[in-house]
Amino acid sequence: MRLSRYFLPILRETPKEAEIVSHRLMLRAGMIRQEAAGIYAWLPLGLKVLNKVNAIVREEQNRSGAIELLMPTIQSADLWRESGRYDAYGKEMLRIQDRHEREMLFGPTNEEMITEIFRAYVRSYKDLPLNLYHIQWKFRDEVRPRFGVMRSREFLMKDAYSFDIDQAGARHSYNKMFVAYLRTFARLGLKAIPMRADTGPIGGDLSHEFIILASTGESEVFCHADYLDFPIPPETTDFDNVAGLQSAVDKWTSLYAATSEMHDEAGFAQVPADKRMSARGIEVGHIFYFGTKYSAPMGAKVMGPDGQEHEVHMGSYGIGPSRLIAAIIEASHDENGIVWPEAVAPFDIALLNLKSGDAATDEACDGLYRQLAAAGYDVLYDDRDERPGGKFATADLIGIPWQILVGPKGLAEGKVELKRRATGERELLPLDGVIARLA
Ligand code: ATP
Ligand code: MG
Ligand code: MG
Ligand code: MG
Repeated sequence: MRLSRYFLPILRETPKEAEIVSHRLMLRAGMIRQEAAGIYAWLPLGLKVLNKVNAIVREEQNRSGAIELLMPTIQSADLWRESGRYDAYGKEMLRIQDRHEREMLFGPTNEEMITEIFRAYVRSYKDLPLNLYHIQWKFRDEVRPRFGVMRSREFLMKDAYSFDIDQAGARHSYNKMFVAYLRTFARLGLKAIPMRADTGPIGGDLSHEFIILASTGESEVFCHADYLDFPIPPETTDFDNVAGLQSAVDKWTSLYAATSEMHDEAGFAQVPADKRMSARGIEVGHIFYFGTKYSAPMGAKVMGPDGQEHEVHMGSYGIGPSRLIAAIIEASHDENGIVWPEAVAPFDIALLNLKSGDAATDEACDGLYRQLAAAGYDVLYDDRDERPGGKFATADLIGIPWQILVGPKGLAEGKVELKRRATGERELLPLDGVIARLA
């Protein structure tokens, strides 16, 4: 992509309304624009990152055996009356009336709708286990939307819903998501710790929140420091191996880790003093087992091997991709801007033409741009007629992992410079040696 033809509305000034670094940097880097309180447009650079995060979330959901579908954002109030949550949910739910004065709502979550879909089609235990997920916009009329997409009113959620014949099956489904979540967050370059959590309005008795430690986090959390170095279950994990998954989950729940709602001082006191961490954290994912809370009132039953009807045991599993992007920036930035982990970077390489209009420099850059594209790299080519200082600042701000700096001085010796954004390390390379060095 040639920057001269791209849409990258960089802000020079630091926006006053942004209280935390990720919000400031997302606005300055031209990733998002606020359209109303807690409601954002995703500009091209932001959308690229969002799509990359979604792709990783999707790969790990699919790997664990979950199946993607897509439910609508608008739901009927009647569905929520069946579960009893229409009145219980309160003011966080955005209620809407259509032209026929039918009561509708913008979905804050999808337990009711997925249960309705399930009961319409599934009749037998032979079709279980089943885990269906989607990645869809949600609306919650948060009392205090703030920190940009960290706590917005409209936000993206990956929500998965599992169905099993009994509690043992549901436990295995829960463990699959637990492990898929560990892998997802690790691939995003994050250290997320599963913590015992309150089940809130969704109800149930088995629940973990996945928390990233950050001073700007809104949750107060308590945990054993060793979690930060625990190994992540590998790509080769067999998700059908019940005992294998249980032991991975047992390991990841063997030490103390709880949010403030579940915190117990006596338990925490057992943690060796030098390992006791009490910190702020960002909730990036949340998994629940809630048994028959929805299947019972909504009549979602299947025939069991015993010839009897059974209400299905369900769980739900959420990740917030839009919040995650803010969390990644909180964890990975410096005074000059964002430092994207390679897995989610909006471009692989920023190619900086330090003297646009100079024939030799233009020719070298254009050639390199074509070769890099042919080698499969996604390159942002800063071909604008601007001073080098501005180009350095933009490249650092938007945090592309590699920068290639091409100017007349270096070219006179046949050299270009390669800079690693994360460390600032630079190396001089022959013009025709860049591709080999990146490989
Ligand atoms: P919080 O405690 O931050 O209000 P929650 O517990 O209400 O979140 P869940 O119902 O567990 O959220 O939803 C699953 C995931 O959706 C959360 O873990 C988070 O990643 C994301 N999420 C929830 N609310 C928001 C929001 N207002 N803005 C952005 N992401 C959100
Ligand atoms: Mg909430
Ligand atoms: Mg919460
Ligand atoms: Mg939650």
